[in-house]
Amino acid sequence: MLGLHWPATTGLDRLPRAAADLILPPTCPGCRAAVADGQALCSRCWSGVRFIEPPLCPIYGTPFAYELGEGIVSAEALADPPQFRRARAAAVYGDIARTLVHHLKYHDRPDLAQVMAVAMGRAGRTLIAEAGLIVPVPLYRWRLWQRRFNQAGALAACISRASGVRHDPLVLERVKPTRRQVGLSALQREENVRGAFRVPDSMRGRIAGLPVLLVDDVYTSGATAKAATRALLRGGAAAVDVLTFARVTSVN
Ligand SMILES: [Zn+2]
Repeated sequence: MLGLHWPATTGLDRLPRAAADLILPPTCPGCRAAVADGQALCSRCWSGVRFIEPPLCPIYGTPFAYELGEGIVSAEALADPPQFRRARAAAVYGDIARTLVHHLKYHDRPDLAQVMAVAMGRAGRTLIAEAGLIVPVPLYRWRLWQRRFNQAGALAACISRASGVRHDPLVLERVKPTRRQVGLSALQREENVRGAFRVPDSMRGRIAGLPVLLVDDVYTSGATAKAATRALLRGGAAAVDVLTFARVTSVN
């Protein structure tokens, strides 16, 4: 077990002062209101984020309405057992979570990545403690050049810094320029990302036999996570867990 010291609260009040200063944005990214000293998100927006808490499906991490007993998995896990071991997400992909993800992605907000990573550290505590390597879902090369910022890479780097688990943004490569998944059906999403990822031969030694934690901003249909998982396992990873900031649930 690695010693993880994530703040017990979702607020930033327990972060060391110096860290809080570094991640201070001038306004709340959720609503653009000015925020008080020491806050990355205004308290109204924080309380609007629906954090995912147990009881959960032990495989997909989807929230259960009530405790079903140890080892009971969701209908989705029974019908469609994934190749990854477990998926966890910090929050339901609702309005505020969507705004945060959007700001992180399109506004180069490394300060937001910090805040989101803290929440992911709580939701993924066990997965992080059991990981040998953290790997972000990569962007296709031209998109990275265009945007200069991979949001999954920023989250992975923050989680790595906080936990001490190594991260490596180069072991997984996106080899196909996939369309944006927004507006696609589940089947189209699957088709869209099929064969999109690979572990280059030169990188296989870096993940051989390691339990890998795959990190992304949002888990939507699972098509991306599943395609990336297949590539990592084919590339030699011992097992794959998936940690995202938000996930789409049927009770959005
Ligand atoms: Zn706000």
